Amino acid sequence: AKNRGRNRLVKFSEEMNKEARMQLWLEIELQKALQQNGLEVWYQPKVNAKDYAIDGAEALVRWKHPVEGYISPAQFIPVAERSGMIEQLGQVVMREVFTTVRKWKQQGLLSGRVAINLSPQQFGNPNLISFVEKLKKATGINPNDITFELTESAVMSDGEHTIQMLNAIKKQGFALSIDDFGTGYSSLSYLARFPLDELKIDRAFIKDIETIPKQVTLIENIINLGKALSMSIVAEGVETRQQATLLSNLNCDYIQGFHFYKPLPKNELDAILLKHSRH
Ligand code: C2E
Ligand code: CA
Ligand code: CA
Ligand code: CA
Repeated sequence: AKNRGRNRLVKFSEEMNKEARMQLWLEIELQKALQQNGLEVWYQPKVNAKDYAIDGAEALVRWKHPVEGYISPAQFIPVAERSGMIEQLGQVVMREVFTTVRKWKQQGLLSGRVAINLSPQQFGNPNLISFVEKLKKATGINPNDITFELTESAVMSDGEHTIQMLNAIKKQGFALSIDDFGTGYSSLSYLARFPLDELKIDRAFIKDIETIPKQVTLIENIINLGKALSMSIVAEGVETRQQATLLSNLNCDYIQGFHFYKPLPKNELDAILLKHSRH
């Protein structure tokens, strides 16, 4: 028995080693990618729940490693957050999105706003405000065309700081969205206190919408709550026609998910927008 315990321990530390080596590898490779312009921004269109026409998009960072191929943000965003690289990564994403959206708007190709994700670490850094201000001037973006998405954990960490940051971003004219709504297990009081324009219902609520009747009641009431607080409502992770129909009937405003569009490279969305604008 003693031996088996020992073996388990050896195995466990080997696993730990593997994990630690993986993290270190990711950190080094991500650093290189940042230096060599190796990150891309893809765009997942959202549709209007009334007519299913494209109405805005979410910007999602993509990293194509020269040898390993695409690595998931779920893997490298946490690494970027822990290592401090998230600030630089975020700046790369914002610059790319402001520039691209400015162009799409000038060409009259895109209606709606484009959303940019902000990690708690990015949001906690006061430099964000001056960076965004400068980038706004440099790119000529209309801030009304951009939404920043924040998670509950980002807004809940420090009340005073949060309100100041949110107000500063709002004052510049950008919109604010609460992402992954309902997954942070936090109190709802922030909904009343913070200047939020949009609420994104997490995929976890949408997934079982067809099989669990109470789930529909829950979503219906989230939508009503958000609307009563003057927020627009996005449902994310919509994968079936039934889910989309149900959400439209519940007066959800926007729908995002694989049923309509997957995240697309900029050129592919460009082509789709151009095609749609011709008829
Ligand atoms: P998120 O903000 O909740 O983004 C939505 C995720 O759901 C995306 O994964 C998207 O590809 C995926 N998704 C969209 N529709 C569907 C669907 O119908 N079904 C399913 N199963 N999934 C769907 P992705 O691109 O892998 O991003 C994962 C997370 O990484 C994001 O979650 C966000 O938290 C983070 N992230 C991505 N890009 C950025 C970025 O530029 N900055 C920061 N700070 N975080 C980012
Ligand atoms: Ca998001
Ligand atoms: Ca989300
Ligand atoms: Ca998320």
